[in-house]
Amino acid sequence: MSFQVNKIREDFPILDQLVYKHKLVYFDNAATTQKPRQVIDAVKYYYEHDNCNIHRGVHFLSQRATGVFEDTRSEIKQFINAASPAEIIFTKGTTESINLVAHSFGKKFLSPGDEILISVLEHHSNFVPWQEICKEQGAILKFIPLDNRGDIDMEVYKTLLNEKTRLVAIAHSSNVLGAVNPVAEIIRLAHLQNIPVLVDGAQAIAHLPVDVQKLDCDFYCFSGHKMYAPMGIGVLYGKEKWLEEMPPYQTGGEMIQDVFFDHTTFNELPYKFEAGTPNVEGVYGLREAIHYLQKINMNEFGEYEKQLVDYTLDKFSRIKGLKVIGNPRERAGLISFLLEGIHPYDAGTLIDKMGIAVRTGHHCAMPLMEYLKIPGTIRASYSFYNTFEEIDRLAEALETVKKIVG
Ligand code: PMP
Repeated sequence: MSFQVNKIREDFPILDQLVYKHKLVYFDNAATTQKPRQVIDAVKYYYEHDNCNIHRGVHFLSQRATGVFEDTRSEIKQFINAASPAEIIFTKGTTESINLVAHSFGKKFLSPGDEILISVLEHHSNFVPWQEICKEQGAILKFIPLDNRGDIDMEVYKTLLNEKTRLVAIAHSSNVLGAVNPVAEIIRLAHLQNIPVLVDGAQAIAHLPVDVQKLDCDFYCFSGHKMYAPMGIGVLYGKEKWLEEMPPYQTGGEMIQDVFFDHTTFNELPYKFEAGTPNVEGVYGLREAIHYLQKINMNEFGEYEKQLVDYTLDKFSRIKGLKVIGNPRERAGLISFLLEGIHPYDAGTLIDKMGIAVRTGHHCAMPLMEYLKIPGTIRASYSFYNTFEEIDRLAEALETVKKIVG
């Protein structure tokens, strides 16, 4: 194994602790990733050296912080290969990015009878904003079903695209089934009918290299905290041609050009969509997180995470009564499963007492649970700092749960 996991773990102070007297195993990375010391130090550095409000200040600190803020925008442009920094909008996270598009795009382009197309596996963040804007505009929300593996049913998808479809919104990777959706093909098919596509990249950004120009998506959304950066910072990428046409989502300071008593003119991109004081400390942290991911090499750790998943599937196949939910053609860093006759919540609570953090429940995808007719799942989601030994511990813990509850 060329991947230096033990060396990497030294960068994550939180991992080195005991929980209920057991060494912590953190398998809840799809909810949020832990932060390397470099990211924590960058936030601390900001408050010790550069803290101040940006853009408007003429003084030294403001200019220095503005420099880092705008440099980071350019680094993100490069990280996801956007065409211009004007296409990178800082938000609180994926949820806010999707709400921005749903409300701004929706108000401008959705009329009664129009359709928005999403899939049944979407996180509530890529579900409820569309449900609400459709209700407001009199539009119709339609759903792409799954095939029997748990992948997007591409044949049905093709039949759902029509002249009334105004936008397709789809997860790059599912936070429940782990499936990597064929977004490039989904986008290609939508574009044949001039339909824009929004990609929810919350679960993909820390696992796969993302190239928005190659994908040709119209919008791409992600959260800093799922890619080793702080909470409360995220990104909306949007093609300039759409962002130019869309009205502001929130109004106030920063997003204006001129304000008169009777009307206001708006700032240029990307500032038109960045009302109010932004999360500058978050941007400092996000910049360092990107440096960290680039340093440890996305291709190499992607392969390592894949090995962790394969190892788990192999271990799980030998646990009687364990059922993996979904069998996607391509999987990114997580596995959902059930233990026969045991409620996921009970299993999760017992595993926790053995020092292992997994997530249980509906994973903010209640419609998917309804669709699959299950109450919830147990989910183990990985990062490059996880190890094969930790997976052994999970497998042992599951056998113990079976003994206790069974
Ligand atoms: N989409 C997906 C697929 C997710 O997994 C999540 C977070 N679990 C979100 C959207 C929402 O992300 P956030 O809470 O950071 O806005």
